Amino acid sequence: MKNNKWRLGVPRALFYYYYGPWWETFFQALGAEVVVSPPTCKEIMDLGVSLAVAEACLPVKVYYGHAAWLVPRVDALFVPRLVSVEKKSFICPKLMGLPDMLRAALKPCPLIIDTTVNLARRPEEGLAAAVQGMAGALGIKGSRVDLARAAAEDRYHAWLAKQQGESMATAGCSEEEPASRVYRSFSSPGQESRDALQVGVIGHGYLIFDQFLGMDIPGKVQRLGGKVILTENLTPLQVETACRQLPKLLYWTLGRKIMGAALHLMEQENVAGLIHLTAFGCGPDSLVGDLAERYARRRGKPFLLLTLDEHTGEAGLDTRLEAFMDMLYRRRSA
Ligand code: SF4
Repeated sequence: MKNNKWRLGVPRALFYYYYGPWWETFFQALGAEVVVSPPTCKEIMDLGVSLAVAEACLPVKVYYGHAAWLVPRVDALFVPRLVSVEKKSFICPKLMGLPDMLRAALKPCPLIIDTTVNLARRPEEGLAAAVQGMAGALGIKGSRVDLARAAAEDRYHAWLAKQQGESMATAGCSEEEPASRVYRSFSSPGQESRDALQVGVIGHGYLIFDQFLGMDIPGKVQRLGGKVILTENLTPLQVETACRQLPKLLYWTLGRKIMGAALHLMEQENVAGLIHLTAFGCGPDSLVGDLAERYARRRGKPFLLLTLDEHTGEAGLDTRLEAFMDMLYRRRSA
C-alpha cells in the first residue's frame, strides 16, 4: 500500500463489461487507486489459458489472464462472488466460484476482495450488504460509504444513458422503436446506406464488447454493410416480454437476456437474421443457443451460431460471416 492508499486491481473481463464504471467510481470515491487491466490481447489470453483449468469457458480463462497481469501491480484484486444481480435470477456458477479458483491458480496470490453479491431474494438488502462488504474490505464504514455509493450509481446511470444515446436511432428508426436501435459505435461515417440489412448480434457482453475475444463481430457485420442490433440496444421490458413465450422461466440472468433478445428480434420483419456469438465450454450457452436456433428455424429467420475458443481462427470465422451476409442479401433480393 502506497501512502496509505490501496492499489486495487480490477480485471477487464466478464462482468467488468456490465458494472465496471460502478466499481471504479465506488472504490475511487473511497480513496483507492483503481488499476484496470488493459484490453485483452494474445499475451493476456495465453497467460489465462496456461493458468486456468481446461474445462473453463473462454471468458473465464481470459479473466485469469487479466488477474495474473494485475498481480505484481496491485495490493489486492477485486473479484466479486456474483451469485445474483437481480430478483429470482442467478449468475452462472463459474462466477460464484471465481475467487476460489483464482486463489488456487495464482502463485503468489494477493489479497482477493471477494464480496458476495446476491440480490436473488431481497435486492435492496442484498445490494446494501454488498456495498458494505466492499467498503468494509478496505476498512471504511459510515457516511463515506453512502457518498461513494451515490457517486457510483450516478456514474453508472450516466454511462448506461450514454450507451443508449450512442446506440440510438439511425435512418428509419425512432425512439418509439427501440428494437431498431443500432449500436453506432461500431459504425464509421459513410458506411451505412438506407437499405442496409439489419442484423441482430446476440451473446454475452463480455464476448461482444471485448474486441479481441469476440473478434469484433459487430464491426465485421457493419463493414459487410449490415446494421447491428445488440441485446443491449433493447429495453428490459422488450426482453422480458419476449421471454414470456417460453414455457418455463430461464433463471440464468444472461441466458434470459440473450434468449429474450433473440425472440424479440425474430419477430421484427426488418431484422434480416441473427448471429449468436457463444463461448466454447459455456453450459448456459449450449442450452440457450440450441433453443434460440430452434425458435429461429420455426420462424424462418436465418440464424448463424459462432462458437469461439482460444483456437478459433479468424479467417474461417470471416468466411462463415461473409457467406451468411451474402445469403441474407440474396434472400432480400429474391
Ligand atoms: S455464462 Fe458461460 S461464458 Fe459466461 S462465465 Fe458462465 S460458462 Fe462462461
